[in-house]
Amino acid sequence: NTTQEAFPGQVHQAPGGGILVSKLDEVINWARANSLWPLVFGTSCCAIEMMSTAAPKYDWSRFGFEVARATPRQADVIIIAGTIVNKMAPVLKRLYDQMPDPKYVVAMGACATSGGPFFYNTYSVVKGADHVIPVDVYIAGCPPRPEALIHALIALQDKIKAGGRIDKIRIEKQ
Ligand code: SF4
Repeated sequence: NTTQEAFPGQVHQAPGGGILVSKLDEVINWARANSLWPLVFGTSCCAIEMMSTAAPKYDWSRFGFEVARATPRQADVIIIAGTIVNKMAPVLKRLYDQMPDPKYVVAMGACATSGGPFFYNTYSVVKGADHVIPVDVYIAGCPPRPEALIHALIALQDKIKAGGRIDKIRIEKQ
């Protein structure tokens, strides 16, 4: 049934019910993946799509991402939504350093993944968040739609459930 698929482990039938056998690591990863607390780091237009993803129409709380935080000390995934300028880069690094482990990074949109439309001939823009901090999930688009952000966060959940053993995740434009 659905509960058996969602929860890691196997149920063995026993008189009067069943016995669940699982691994502690898998249970912790399952719980961690289903309770991501995002640190929202919206710097420009992609942030509008991120806010839309949190709002009732797309409602990311359906998937367990609803506890958005404005402080890094209470967050385990940072969503970088927008352009990162050189002056902002040390701030991004400090915020990342202040997040407790384990922590994850989503680069949302062309600017956060590569500098986007500011890649050429712009002295002030960082050419991708991974020049500053490690990135787990990259989302294409200018801006990406809310569906792409939800797709990315579900992909991140899968990565966490797998114990973080999956390499970089790239979400193509949707
Ligand atoms: Fe704005 Fe496009 Fe950059 Fe997103 S990727 S912050 S929409 S310019």
